[in-house]
This record gives sequence, structure tokens and C-alpha cells, in this order.
Amino acid sequence: MSLIVQKYGGTSVADLERIKNVAHRVISTYEKENQVVVILSAMAGVTDGLISMAHGITNNPDPRELDVLLATGEQTTAALLAMMLTSMNYPAKSLMGHQAEVVTDRDYGNARILEIGAGRIKDLLQKGNIVVVAGFQGTDIKGNITTLGRGGSDTSAVAIAAALTADTCEIYTDVDGIYTADPNVCKKAQKLAYISYDEMLNMSSLGAKVLQIRSVGFAKKYNIPLHVRSSFSQEEGTMVVNEDSGMEQLVVSGVTHNKDEARITLKKVPDQPGIAAKIFTPIAEAGIIVDMIIQNTRAEGQTDLTFTVPKTAYKKALEIEKEVAARIGAEDVFGDDNIAKVSVIGVGMKNHSGVASVMFNTLSREGINIHMISTSEIRISCVIDEKYAELAVRVLHTAFGLDRDEEEK
Ligand code: ASP
Ligand code: MG
Repeated sequence: MSLIVQKYGGTSVADLERIKNVAHRVISTYEKENQVVVILSAMAGVTDGLISMAHGITNNPDPRELDVLLATGEQTTAALLAMMLTSMNYPAKSLMGHQAEVVTDRDYGNARILEIGAGRIKDLLQKGNIVVVAGFQGTDIKGNITTLGRGGSDTSAVAIAAALTADTCEIYTDVDGIYTADPNVCKKAQKLAYISYDEMLNMSSLGAKVLQIRSVGFAKKYNIPLHVRSSFSQEEGTMVVNEDSGMEQLVVSGVTHNKDEARITLKKVPDQPGIAAKIFTPIAEAGIIVDMIIQNTRAEGQTDLTFTVPKTAYKKALEIEKEVAARIGAEDVFGDDNIAKVSVIGVGMKNHSGVASVMFNTLSREGINIHMISTSEIRISCVIDEKYAELAVRVLHTAFGLDRDEEEK
């Protein structure tokens, strides 16, 4: 007997028909002598609807009350699925976050899971029940309802799988797996059979938004293999696993792009100790997250410094740096929010040289200028003009041998 955790996203439970489809999947797993714990999201669009309802009252809804409100989305689907299963003559019980003993901190709207008791879940499983848990929610030690941030039911699922030491954690969504590139941009993108946690962490942050990134960190920490797959087909999806699990280590597993950042340059900054701190402290204090930073060497004790921030924070960051520049005596500040970051990601890169040069040559052949470069052990990212993002993804996808054969599919 295996213990299987299945998580179904909002589109998979969007209406009663789909909830019935979920029930059939759950039952077929249960019928194979497995213990099944199901984690659910709210119906597609419901969380957004609840948020806008709250904003119909005030622009600043009380965070505690907002979480009480948002948790109802998952309460609804959990009850409906349990009801559906019971009406089909299968024993099922729904649990809200607190009943499943999901204990979080008190950071309303973005709470972190501190621990999961799981005693109640185990007890119900032992009695032969299918256990349906409302995702996305928990309670702090005082019993206040909290939510885990948008997309947080992925994290609920992985954390519960870890607490139960489940054999598998299946994440059912509306895509059939993780692709080598965004299929909307690159027609030749193909589904990966395996991807490592670290690659996935890099992919998520760069725009392949299939899983809440926190859930991948959790899965990595507790070494829970995730099976990301579609609830609308029987096909196998993508396994997200430890890179030492024997998976084939591709030099490049994926090409991602991201148009969510903007860059800011400070020109002729005095090249002295403490200057970088003066430039970045006010940005941090404003709660703005900086991604890439490059600093050039320049003659005459001056340097140019460029960094990227989320597009949504671009105006604010530019304003801040205009003040900073005046204070530290930089010559000029300018920025550009028509940029894109294109990245190639692969664990196999660790043991291969020449990946960067293939990337740069490929972009140069298309006449695409590179504004910034950053690298890590398993990723190379280039900032280019936004208008070339799609082209860059396609040519890199081909250059790294990721194109799907035309005959397949
Ligand atoms: N319902 C929540 C959201 O829309 C949580 C989730 O779907 O994972 O963000
Ligand atoms: Mg989701």
C-alpha cells in the first residue's frame, strides 16, 4: 500500500463536472489499494473574486480578515469533493487547514508553514478514509486563519506530503508538464520527463509559472519527488526530482524568458568603498528586490553600475536612484523597461564548458545585442531588448538541441 498525495489546481475543480472528474481520479487511485490525501485549490477565479470583493470595501482590507475571506475558496472545494466522493459511496472527510494541523507564522497573506501535525490525517487514513484537505491555508499558534501566498496550495500539498512521508506527491494542473520553453513562444518546445529541483527553482523564478516556487524549495528540502501532470489526460507529466536520482543530466534542459524586469544604470559613479551600499540600501528599504547587478571598471576612479528590478518597481527605483546619484555625485541615471531576460538552464552545465559561448554566438548571429549577463552553476542569463525575446528563445532552443522532432506528437 502506498500513500499518495494528489493536489488539484483551480482549473481542475472549476465546476461540479470537473470536481466529479477529480473524484473519479481519486477513486481509481484509492481502488488500487492506496491511501489517498487530496489537497485542493479554490475554483479557478474564486480567489481573485474574493480579493476584488474585499477591495470593494476598502483599498486596504484588514489582512487578518482578508485571510478569513480567502480561505473560504478552498473550504468550498474541499467540502464539495468530500461530498461528491461520499455520494459515490466512498468514505471521505474534508479538513480545513487548522484541522489538518497546518501551523504557520502570522504573516497574513504570505504565511510560512512552521509545522504540520498530521495526526488527524493519519487517523482518518487508518480508518479507510480518503482525506480532502483545503490547500493554501493554515492557522497561527493562536488559531488565526492564515493563507500561504498566491498559488500556495502547491506548498500545502508538498508540506503535507513531507509530514506524512508520502510515497508520491502528484500535482494536477491544466498543463501536462514542464516544457523546455514556453510552448506559446516556441512551437518546438517539448515536455521534459524529468527535471531537477534546482532547475525547476530557476525555471519558476524565470517565468515557467507552473508551481509555487516555495513548494519546490520544500520538495527539495524533504526530497519529495513531484509529479506535475494534467488532470485532463492520463498521460505522464514531468517528474521533479533530486538531480542525483539517476535522471539524465541534459546540458541545457530549458530556455526561459521573462519580461518582468527593468534595468537602471548609474553612470560615472565614484569608485570608492561604501558606494554600492549607498546605492542599494534605499532600494532595499523600499522593499524592492534587485535581481542582476553589474559594475564596470572604468578609468579615473569612476565606474558604471547597472542593475535590474521588477518592472512594477521601476519608476520608484528610478526616483530613488536620482536622489542617490545627486548625493554621491554620479553623473547620470537612466533606465530601460523594454528589456527581457533570456536564460538557459541545465544541471549538466556544471560539467560542460562552452555553454556560454554557444549562447552568445547564437544571439549574435541574429544580431541581438546583449546588455547584461549573469551566470550561476546551472544557468546563464542575458538581458536583451524586449522585442527580441521570442526570437532569442527560439534560436537558443534550436542551438541547444531541444527542438522536438517534427514526427513526434
Ligand atoms: N486559491 C489560491 C490562489 O488562487 C491558492 C492556489 O490556487 O494555490 O492563489
Ligand atoms: Mg496554482
